[in-house]
Amino acid sequence: MEFISHMHLALEEARAAAGRGEVPVGAVVISPTGEVVGRAGNRTRELSDPTAHAEILAMRMACAAAGSERLPGHDLYVTLEPCPMCASAISQARIARLYYGAADPKSGGVAQGPRVFAHPQCHHVPEVYDGIGASEAERMLKDFFAARR
Ligand SMILES: [Zn+2]
Repeated sequence: MEFISHMHLALEEARAAAGRGEVPVGAVVISPTGEVVGRAGNRTRELSDPTAHAEILAMRMACAAAGSERLPGHDLYVTLEPCPMCASAISQARIARLYYGAADPKSGGVAQGPRVFAHPQCHHVPEVYDGIGASEAERMLKDFFAARR
């Protein structure tokens, strides 16, 4: 099967999040049949919820659609390296493949920091592909934080 990246949809969600005054991170979940079953941007401020990261919200939508707390065979695209909380949730949801954009040296939990998927307590490790659409994701984050200073 031909690989079709859905990162452009995650970048759209990140842009929309910036427009709401949220940190510009977006995520989409793709079902095993290739459908978009979850898409979200950060909404931590809007929802007054520190767990309302794009990945969590997109997985909640996908789980509701699947009627299950697990998403085997699903792919998750996110514009920024997941934090430890989201990485753990991705593992618990049994996401098959994780595609992320920019690296996050400050708060990332996949390639740096706690490296959640490399920990022996991590029972499900997705395939991980990094750097997808990274330059646009980075630019959005830089612009966002520059504007707030
Ligand atoms: Zn997160």
